[in-house]
Parts: sequence; C-alpha cells; structure tokens
Amino acid sequence: MQNPSVILHGAHEAYVEDRPIPVLNETNDVIIRIAYVGVCGSDVHFWNNGGHLSRVKEPVVMGHEAAGIVHAVGPNVTNLAPGDRVALEPGIPCRKCRDCKAGAYQICRKMVFAASPPYPGTLTKFYASSADFCYKIPDTMPLQQAVLMEPLAVGVHGVRLAGVHFGHRVVVFGAGTVGLLCAAVARNFGAAFVLSVDILKNKLAFAKEIIGEGVGGTAMPDSSLTPEENARLFMKAHGLENGADIVIDASGAEASINTGIFLLRSGGTYVQVGMGRRSVQFPISEICDREIIVKGSFRYGAGDFETAMGLVEKGCINLQPFITNVFPFEQATEAWKATGRGEGIKNVIEAPKD
Ligand SMILES: [Zn+2]
Ligand SMILES: [Zn+2]
Repeated sequence: MQNPSVILHGAHEAYVEDRPIPVLNETNDVIIRIAYVGVCGSDVHFWNNGGHLSRVKEPVVMGHEAAGIVHAVGPNVTNLAPGDRVALEPGIPCRKCRDCKAGAYQICRKMVFAASPPYPGTLTKFYASSADFCYKIPDTMPLQQAVLMEPLAVGVHGVRLAGVHFGHRVVVFGAGTVGLLCAAVARNFGAAFVLSVDILKNKLAFAKEIIGEGVGGTAMPDSSLTPEENARLFMKAHGLENGADIVIDASGAEASINTGIFLLRSGGTYVQVGMGRRSVQFPISEICDREIIVKGSFRYGAGDFETAMGLVEKGCINLQPFITNVFPFEQATEAWKATGRGEGIKNVIEAPKD
C-alpha cells in the first residue's frame, strides 16, 4: 500500500485501506509522515454510531491528534524542512472570513478539520497540512507525547477563556485527558487551588498525581444527592465557602454542569469545554441572579498551540504519564474500544512504519 489509512465506513466498521499519497496543492503546504495518532472521545463516538457519516455517505479516514515528521514542503515554506519533527494542529481555517480576520479562527465556518467529513483524518501514513499549522517540537519531546499537544491546546484555550490568573480557585469537572490538562494549565496560570471532579475512582487517583498535593484536590459527587447538595458538600470539604472563582466543565454531563453553576461564587466564570448531549436542563436563574459569566470554548485558537508547547518545553507539564498504551496501526479499533471502556488516560496508535 502506498498510503495505508484507517477508514470508517459506519458504526463498528473500520478497515485499513489504501489511499493516494496527498500532493502539495498550495505553496505553503507540507506533507507529513505521521508517526503517532492519539485516540479521542470523539473517535470512540464515531466508531460507535458512525453518525457523522450520515451527512456525506462516504467513508472517512479517522484521527485528528497527530505528530509526525515533515516529508515534503511547498516552495513558500520557510519554517519547516524535511526531517523536522512536528505536532499537528488538525484544523485549517479559511483565513478570509470575518471570524478568521477577527482572530477567532476556531469558529470559522469554512474550517477544514481532520476526520470531519468530507476531510480526511490523520490516521494514515502521509497527511497534507499547512506549514503554519505544524509546530516543531523540542528535541527532548518524544513524538508519542507530541500527540497530546492537541488536547493540551484545548485545555489552554478553555483556561484562557476562563481568565484564570493568580490566586483563583478553580474547579474542573471531568478527569479525562482534557479535564486533567485544563487542571494542569490552570495551576500553571497561577490558580491557588484546583479541584478535579469525576465519577470514576481511577481517574481521580491519576488526577491526584497530576495536580499535586497542597494546591488541589479531588472530589467524587454522590449520585443520590442533587447538584445543589453536591456543590454545598464540595464547598465545605474544600474550603470554597464563598464559591469557586472559576468552573470549567470538561465532562458535558448534565449533573456536572448543574453542580458547577451552584459551586460558583457570584460573579464567577463558567466555561463549557466538554461536549455532551445537545441540550440539558440548566439553572438559568442562577446565571441571572448571581451575575455568573458563561462562556463556550471550542477547540483552540490563535496562540494556543504555542502556549501548550511552551508549557511542556519549560517542564511545567509532564505529558509522559498521560500515555497509557500504544497500539499498532492495524489494531486502531482496539485502541478505540479500550478508550470506550475507560481504560487508561490516553491511548495512542502507531502509524505504519514502512
Ligand atoms: Zn480530540
Ligand atoms: Zn474563516
């Protein structure tokens, strides 16, 4: 095969198939020889229901968290050369619309995003991208870890939108990769206290290691209590009597969203990073009565990958413990299943070696 790729045809139907090697269409394009691809919750979602395919009725190459080695560069590329090791930002905006021009390219309506049909994903041998959306990684960073730059950029974006700064008390719901990275970024942005909330014991045990003693804690909600009661318990147990300054929800779960709002101090900021059901019951009167600021956070925007890279390069965040398992390319579906079962933190798939 010239360009083996993992292609999803529908729910629970994915195979390694050949695709043409991509060509350099624009003078700023690069071809990346993919090394590793991280598994994301959205991959598991696609694998389980194939829902996104209904829009285009065409099979799609999966994967969007990727790192690799530059294989070829277009004539106008000056920042990269063949052989460079890079982390990929998997969405290329149009660069021309109002949102792009305003610097909010993450909400560009013409975004070309990996594995978002009809655009191919990164679970392939050769992948075409734009040079300015590929970030050279430090020599000390293994390519395996570089796949985590994407979820880390999601964390940076959410924490930036939340306006976390020195002394803030921050609560993050969801202790999956993104939630934990939000917590780690919040600490580095100066948060005085970070509480990580999840319903799974193993996730909280890992959160404890990542956040560290003294500056944070973990909490598990009691499912027999209401969100308001859980919020009150968390406040008491963690010295948040007047409420948290900032709540970031990386779970998308209705109970977490509600508990988060009740946990906030008046005038506090709530940021939605996690995606769950399309609509949920939401305590809107709390927003009004207590002047709570609510923001949505979508993927990452200008400067987020650079900040993420800086945090890792300077040793502020250690990504190695996040990597649970590396699966061979042919076993990509096993990696999705393992993630679906909640096994480990970040499962990674190795791209074809030859
Ligand atoms: Zn993802
Ligand atoms: Zn645009």
